[in-house]
Order: sequence, then C-alpha cells, then structure tokens
Amino acid sequence: MPRPIAAQLHLSALRHNLSLVRRHAGTAKIWSVVKANAYGHGLARIWQGLDATDGFALLDLNEAVLLREQGWQGPILLLEGFFQPQDLALLDHYRLTTTVHSDWQLEAINAARLTAPLNIYLKLNSGMNRLGFPIGQAEAVWQWAKSLSNVGDVTLMSHFANADNTIGAGEQFARIQQASGHIPAARCFANSAAILRHPETHYDWVRPGIILYGASPSGDVADIADMGLRPVMHLHSEIIAIQALSAGHHVGYGSRYSASSAHRIGVVACGYADGYPRLAPSGTPILVDGIMTHTVGSISMDMLTVDLTPCPQAQLGSKVEIWGENLPIDNVAAAAGTVGYELMCALASRVPVNVCA
Ligand SMILES: *Cc1c(COP(=O)(O)O)cnc(C)c1O
Repeated sequence: MPRPIAAQLHLSALRHNLSLVRRHAGTAKIWSVVKANAYGHGLARIWQGLDATDGFALLDLNEAVLLREQGWQGPILLLEGFFQPQDLALLDHYRLTTTVHSDWQLEAINAARLTAPLNIYLKLNSGMNRLGFPIGQAEAVWQWAKSLSNVGDVTLMSHFANADNTIGAGEQFARIQQASGHIPAARCFANSAAILRHPETHYDWVRPGIILYGASPSGDVADIADMGLRPVMHLHSEIIAIQALSAGHHVGYGSRYSASSAHRIGVVACGYADGYPRLAPSGTPILVDGIMTHTVGSISMDMLTVDLTPCPQAQLGSKVEIWGENLPIDNVAAAAGTVGYELMCALASRVPVNVCA
C-alpha cells in the first residue's frame, strides 16, 4: 500500500476557472500562465484542461517544447525572454513568442538566422524594477524593434507590483500611458489581480495565473469569494496513528506544543517533504472527517499532528483534507505566513497525483 497522501487535480475546475476569467477579461485574449510546471500541478498533466485558452505563457524552454510535442499549436509566450543568443534557434523552430527586456536581446534577434520573423513582447519597466526597458524609452525601443526584419508583431508588455493590494496599479498604469499611450501596438499588462481589480488595464491580452488554479492573488479568499473559482488541487491524507495526551504532554520536535488538558491528537501522513509548509504554526487549519480542526506542534518531514478535540469520532484511517474543496489553500498559506502560489509550487514529486476529468 502506498502512503495515504495523494493529490487530486480537477481538470473540470481548470475549465470552469478559465471560462470565468474569460468573462472578466471581456474581449481580451488570454495567456494562461503555466510557468513553474503549471504552478506545481504538472504541465503535462493539466494543460489540456486549459486548451480553450488563446495561448500559454511560461518561461522554461523545456516546458515550451513539451507543449509543442504534446500537440499545442497555438501561441506560446516566454515570460522571461531567452537567456542566450543560441536559444533563438529553438524559438524559431518551435515558433515561440518571446519577451524582450534588454538591448542585447534585440541585437541577438537582429543578428540571428531565422526561418520567419519572431513575434515579440517588449517588456517595459513601469516601476516593478525587475525586467524591462526604462519606461521612458518605450517609443525609441518600439521604433527600433519595428525596424528589424527579424521581428514580426510587437506587443507592449508591463507588469504590476501592487495590483493585488490597496496601493493598486494606478501609478504604474499612468506611467505606462504617459510613455506609450500613443504607440499603435497591442498591449498586455494584466496578471490575475489586475484582471479582477483593474479592468482598465485589460487591453488585448491578459496573463492570468493563480486564479486559473482557483486561488487568490492577494492571499485573501474574500477577494475571490464572489467569483466562483474552484480549486484545482485537492490534497488529502489519512490519520495513521492516534495519541492520547495528558495535560502537560508535549508533541513533536522541539516540544513546541504542550497540552493544557487531556485530549487526543491524530498523526497525519503529510510533512514538509510532501510540500506542507514547515513553518506552519500550531493552529494551522486542517479538516479531519470533514470537520475543521488545526495542527499542533512542529511539522515533521513526513508527518504532522492535529488536534482531535473537535472530532471525537476520528479514528485510524480517518480522511484528512490538507487543502482543496473545503479548505482553501489560501487559508493554510496565510496561517503559515506565505501565499497559495508557494504551496502549489512546492507540492513534492513523491506525492501521488490523480488527474480527474
Ligand atoms: C507569473 C506571471 C503572471 C501571472 O501572475 P498571477 O499573479 O499568477 O496571475 C503574469 N505575468 C507575468 C510576467 C508573470 O511572471
């Protein structure tokens, strides 16, 4: 028998979420963001759940090649661009659209021998200060790109630092408008948070990631509560042992939990080597037999422990929901001081995965 932990991935939830995003995005086309192995879900496993998308965005060349080899013929966007001039042979062969964020990339495209012009996304740095040309150079870089015979369609791209919080996208968006509002090009600015909160930024293409997987860009489930998203990843395990604690008994490494009265705890086959956050404190929510309870003590590599006080019926083999249908990954992440993105991406390869249509 395998360890009882397993993840279920619901392709129907992906399809559903994509259709909701489409409703929000209006006439904009959709780059479904599947970087980081589809946010930890497994690109090969799940991309067909998103095959109604207009294109896939990712940043690993291997992942782009995988999509092509599995039959995706539509657009693919490399969100970080290419990393060295030699990569252009693959971009040409597989017809990949690339972000261009630096002078050297335009020079390399100009110097390359291509079978056809490459479509590019000109990344403008409007305040995030990671990738991109200084926003004030938008016009000059656009003119340069348009002048190159190896360059096909040019789309303007930028990325918001605060679309998911109260600072908002306004200041960055104003900078983009001021520097590039007059340029006759297609535009692509909005991530999940901007799709939900800043419809004025939608334009021609949007780039949803986290909402496709059914989680919140801000980490606050209230933000997506009325959207009707469904979680794609459901992580389950079982109680594999029960301990009856007396008052004063401790649990786990560092004895971080001390029972104030007699109660039972359950030992769950799930630990940080499965992707559960090691820093989740006592009190992190978890469901046993469908009843909400919480972790107690440190998370171990292969096990975690839960308070069974709210679930007196719990026994060996009781079902444990770690996150999914009834417990948003955002709530587990918030308790652990992180975001749903990180937990999804961290799902360990040793966890068996079942894909449900
Ligand atoms: C990851 C990423 C996205 C998607 O972000 P979400 O917050 O998951 O919607 C969009 N654009 C770029 C450039 C990204 O790197």
